[in-house]
Amino acid sequence: MSLNEVKPKKIDGRLFAQEYLNKVLKPRCETFTEIYKKVPKLSTILVGENPASESYLKLKEKFFAKLCVESEVFRLPEETTEEELLAFINKQNHDNQIDGILVQVPLPSHIDEDTISESIALSKDVEGLSPGNVHAWAKALPNLVPATALGVLALLKFYKIPIEGKHAVVVGRSMIVGKPVTHLLLKENATVTVCHSRTKPLEKYTKQADILIAAVGQPHLIKKGMIKDGAIVVDVGINFEDGKMMGDVDYDDLLETVSYISPVPGGSGPATVCMLASNLLLAFELKWAKKNEEKLECLRDYYANYDTIGETGFCIE
Ligand code: NDP
Repeated sequence: MSLNEVKPKKIDGRLFAQEYLNKVLKPRCETFTEIYKKVPKLSTILVGENPASESYLKLKEKFFAKLCVESEVFRLPEETTEEELLAFINKQNHDNQIDGILVQVPLPSHIDEDTISESIALSKDVEGLSPGNVHAWAKALPNLVPATALGVLALLKFYKIPIEGKHAVVVGRSMIVGKPVTHLLLKENATVTVCHSRTKPLEKYTKQADILIAAVGQPHLIKKGMIKDGAIVVDVGINFEDGKMMGDVDYDDLLETVSYISPVPGGSGPATVCMLASNLLLAFELKWAKKNEEKLECLRDYYANYDTIGETGFCIE
């Protein structure tokens, strides 16, 4: 595609979140409050203070307030030990009133994030990082998948961007974003290259991307000249400079050459929150569906209809 033919389009995470909220989450809320006479409860645990966590929390609380969800935030002091945090989570694992547990990262450096995510009960692991869920998404089996990665896939599908056969380049290999995004894209039959801090030179790989996912945490790392014309770019990064939020991608710099690009804020962030809500509702429903396989499959399909939101026939009562 030549430069002149490219019509850049914004990947609008807020628009997606609004549609998914109105057409998927809210109708489900109405149905199951009727059936189960209960609403799902999310516990969010924060240890210490972090500006990115605070901004995510604010966005999340605002979104969840529109839903049939009870959300409680537990703030623990910076000096909380790993043992104390594990004991806190263990109590919530056994609390029948809690359907989802989210431990906000980054955690203080004296707490091992892997140990913490591995301690969350599989059925309440709305972040999709406990060993059973990681095994499931790595094998492309249906289960709870990290919300940010689901959000990236949802945005691509919402905008009906073809994935199969495309070359996707993921910059970042964390368990919370880079790796699950890679697996989701592989499941969609993309060819995926994963880059990280030792990839040299980065632009050699980013230039090959039909679809570029940036999940690094470095402001405006991806600039003009690093992307081919007509590429699709999803920016996951959340960085702060002089109190201003910005992504890993220089949006203004790339706008004229890409075919689709997501802004920060207003792109991946709202989609992540939306997928977190989706994971919570799904976790709650899977609990009630018990071992009814047909119902489980139907539920998973319903929540994952990102391109035909709300249009698919629905089979659950
Ligand atoms: P991590 O710090 O866990 O991972 C960052 C990854 O980027 C690592 O794999 C690292 O490589 C790689 N990296 C670092 N520097 C470079 C570089 N110069 N070139 C190429 N790769 C590099 O971060 P997260 O995955 O948790 O988060 C990434 C970003 O996404 C952050 O800005 C975070 O705030 C944001 N985020 C946004 C969310 C949203 O809802 N939009 C949700 C979660 C996170 P290596 O492995 O070699 O160290």
